[in-house]
Amino acid sequence: MGAVTGRSRAPGWVLALAVVALATGAAAADLPIVDTHLHYSRNAWEQYAPEGILGLLDAAGIRRAFVSSTPDDGTLRLRQAAPDRIVPVLRPYREAGELGSWHRDPSVAGYLEGRLKAGIYRGIGEFHLRGGEARSAVVRQVAELARRHALFLHCHCDAEAAEILVGLGADLRVLWAHAGLSSGPDVVGALLARHPGLRVELALRSDVAPGGRLDPAWRALFLRYPDRFMVGTDTWIPSRWAELQGVQEATRAWLRQLPPDVAARIASGNAERLAAGR
Ligand SMILES: [Zn+2]
Repeated sequence: MGAVTGRSRAPGWVLALAVVALATGAAAADLPIVDTHLHYSRNAWEQYAPEGILGLLDAAGIRRAFVSSTPDDGTLRLRQAAPDRIVPVLRPYREAGELGSWHRDPSVAGYLEGRLKAGIYRGIGEFHLRGGEARSAVVRQVAELARRHALFLHCHCDAEAAEILVGLGADLRVLWAHAGLSSGPDVVGALLARHPGLRVELALRSDVAPGGRLDPAWRALFLRYPDRFMVGTDTWIPSRWAELQGVQEATRAWLRQLPPDVAARIASGNAERLAAGR
C-alpha cells in the first residue's frame, strides 16, 4: 500500500527519466552480458569497422565478448580497438573452408603455436568436430597446446565429440558451443555430470525458451549447474551483427525467469571466470 502511495507521488521527472533510461537501452545495464560466441571474420569487415562493432556491443548491453575470427586478424583488429573488452580466441582456420578438414591437417598445431606466442589468447576455437574426428592426432595436439597454455577449447561438436574432447585431459576446460546444437537437456546434463571440465554455451538454442517462456527441463538444468552455462550469439554471417541487440533482448527475457544470482552467473559471471582461466 505504502509503495503504491509512494509511486503515485513520484514527481514527473522521475517518470521521464525512467522512460529515457528505457529508450537508451539502460534497461540492459542491470544484466550485462558476456557474449561467448562472436566472430569478426573477413565476411563482415567491409560492412562493419571495429568501431561499428563496438557500437553494436554497446547497444546490445554486451560488456565483454569472446571473439574468434577467420582469418584471425579480425579478432586482432577488434582487440586493438578495445583491449579490455575483447577476449581473443584463436581458431585453427586460416581461411574459410577449413572447417571440415582442419582435424586432419598436420600444419594446424604449428600455425596455432606461432600465433599463441603473442600471449593474448584465452582459448582455442571455435572449431568443428563430429564424433570420432575428435580422436585425431591433430586434435590431441591442439588439446595439448590448450593444456600447456592454460586455454579453454571452444568446440562446435556433437555430444560424442564433446565427450571425447573433454576426456583428452583431466584439466582441460571445454566450452561446448550451442550445447551441441540439438542435444537436449537430458544429454547435456549427463555430460555435465560426468565431466567437471565441460562448460556449455547456448548460442542459437531457441528451444531454451520457446515463445519467450523458459523451458522447464532447461530451467531445472540451469539450477542444478548454475556455474556451467553461458550465453552467446554466433555471428557466422554478417547479417547476424544486425540481430545482436534482438538476440540479447530475447536472452535477457529468459534469464529474468531465473533467480537473479543464477541469471547473473549465466549472463556474465561464468564467462568472466572462464576468460580468467578458472
Ligand atoms: Zn560460431
